[in-house]
Amino acid sequence: MADEPRYRRILLKLSGEALAGEQGYGIDPAVIQGIAEEIRDVSLLGIEIALVIGGGNIFRGLAASSRGMDRASADYMGMLATVMNSLAMQDALEKLGVVTRVQSAIEMQEIAEPYIRRRAIRHLEKGRVVIFAAGTGNPYFTTDTAASLRAMEIGAEVILKATRVDGVYTADPRTNPGAIKFSSLTYLEVLEKGLQVMDATATSLCMDNRLPIVVFDLTERGNIRRVVMGEDIGTIVKG
Ligand code: UDP
Repeated sequence: MADEPRYRRILLKLSGEALAGEQGYGIDPAVIQGIAEEIRDVSLLGIEIALVIGGGNIFRGLAASSRGMDRASADYMGMLATVMNSLAMQDALEKLGVVTRVQSAIEMQEIAEPYIRRRAIRHLEKGRVVIFAAGTGNPYFTTDTAASLRAMEIGAEVILKATRVDGVYTADPRTNPGAIKFSSLTYLEVLEKGLQVMDATATSLCMDNRLPIVVFDLTERGNIRRVVMGEDIGTIVKG
């Protein structure tokens, strides 16, 4: 393991489900605390951390619209779910002494700052963890796309995409024992093979701007730190 971190400014993308734990819905306090502790440990290394958290543990627009709800309204509800997750993560981090700011893409000034790019960068420079809430602020997008967009805007060197498996496989390793793990992939391979990394909009955005994505297993303690320190775990997607 290298002594010097590989990355100085990262964007960590957590799915909403990552906060749900075994119950599969909502926010599990023990789970969110565990993730917050890992983020604190990485922050103490002097790494600048921005977070984007999904909302799938509470509400997904696409699922609701497939059951008859207007898509845009459903998506706005999904974005509000990400705000709840962001506030929960803020709370967990601040209890551990990590200074944070939540910036929302949909203005709600009583509970979060509005998203202001230059202010977000300033927070990062001061060592604060910045949590970007409400996705992109637009329906028909995902928080993966929000993560790619924000990562580019703040000049993050990488997106760390946290999942429950230790990288990208030829098939789902939980149901397919013969599935093979990729250690690295190009953006085009991800798009052409339809691999489950991020959706096509998010992947294309990263491809166009040469932003690497590291897919790794969040369920193993210490993995965020390992990736940041340059250990080759998970799968890296780059040009
Ligand atoms: N969403 C949206 N625009 C965005 C980001 C999110 O409309 O820019 C909505 C969309 O309905 C999505 C929901 O918010 O289903 C929750 O986000 P996502 O599904 O990306 O969460 P994750 O799967 O990461 O938990």
